[in-house]
Amino acid sequence: MQISARGLTAYVRDIFSREGCSEAEAERIGRYLVAANLTGHDSHGVIRVPRYVAWLREGEVEADRTPEVVTDGPAFALIDAHYGFGQTAGPFATELGIRKARENGVAIVALRHAGHLGRIGEWAEQAAAAGLVSVHFVNVAGSLLVAPFGSVDRRFSTAPFAAGFPVQGAEPVILDFATSAVAEGKVLVASQGGKKLPEGVLIEPDGRLSGDPATLYGPLDGPERDNLKGAGAIRAFGEHKGSGLALMCELLAGALTGSGTAGPGTRRFCNGMLSLYMTPQAFGSEDALVGETRAYLDFFKSARPVPGGEVLLPGEPERRTRAKRLAEGVPLPDPVWATLLAAGQPHGLDGEAYRK
Ligand code: NAD
Repeated sequence: MQISARGLTAYVRDIFSREGCSEAEAERIGRYLVAANLTGHDSHGVIRVPRYVAWLREGEVEADRTPEVVTDGPAFALIDAHYGFGQTAGPFATELGIRKARENGVAIVALRHAGHLGRIGEWAEQAAAAGLVSVHFVNVAGSLLVAPFGSVDRRFSTAPFAAGFPVQGAEPVILDFATSAVAEGKVLVASQGGKKLPEGVLIEPDGRLSGDPATLYGPLDGPERDNLKGAGAIRAFGEHKGSGLALMCELLAGALTGSGTAGPGTRRFCNGMLSLYMTPQAFGSEDALVGETRAYLDFFKSARPVPGGEVLLPGEPERRTRAKRLAEGVPLPDPVWATLLAAGQPHGLDGEAYRK
């Protein structure tokens, strides 16, 4: 099925306002989840609604928590989100980073105990829209899924990394990815008969490489999928290099911020994020920077593509999908739409009415 981004945003907003979030927070949850669908990252979009509702009811994430600025230096801030929604803590932390970087040239913002921050590229886009370069290291406490290079045991979360670079007169470069070979969402989709995983993105306890979702979830006989039931792990991307970047995400976003690393032991689920914000003007002449950046990106794009290929800047695929989905609507698999309809039902909300 297809639904307009506007209708879908309003429906998700109404679900969360009925679940106890303020109108403003409910609107942000709707807006940011649908924004992830618009970029094509459906694994971080409205498919998460049932899980967010469950977390809210279980107290895993808390409605309308005001992020607390624990340390407020001129060019540094430490923020504790107190397990409030990432859709509230994420824009708050980013706005603060933008303000401090504008005042001081650069700023570092550490965010701890945030609910799920969704698509991290969103925060890099927010900074780029304000004219700032940004870098974001993120981890997930309480989510052990990924084996380090050379190992079969889970030691990392899917720990994403993102960076944004504004380009005057053109679209920003936005790099944003999980440091795991595949996002868990993709393993889940494959386990439900969706797109198959490439061979070798998972690893069995005996070291055999695998593309079988059972490696992560155990026997796939029922509809339940619990990543604690599988004996294997997702592999880090990029061999020892990606594994090293995942380690730095755990240390910078989990240990340094005080948010907590992926493990060991049982930990409350939350995102930690360490972000750097830079005002380009603080580094010298703006004209020189614009000239060099544009010339370099043209040079980059002029690289001859492999047969049938295309040379894209990070951020381009997302922009293309966004333009298409804004025009045509957001496509949702019927089973996902069914879970959204079920989320509205207890509140007397008819999801179908939002499609008109
Ligand atoms: P991915 O593998 O789709 O990679 C996306 C990145 O690669 C983007 O920057 C994109 O512009 C670029 N890209 C894609 N195709 C390209 C091409 N052909 N040429 C050049 N660049 C190209 O992303 P992923 O690892 O599946 O991550 C998906 C999302 O999941 C991300 O938004 C990430 O932030 C999010 N995530 C969030 C959490 C969390 O805890 N909040 C955890 C893990 C992942």
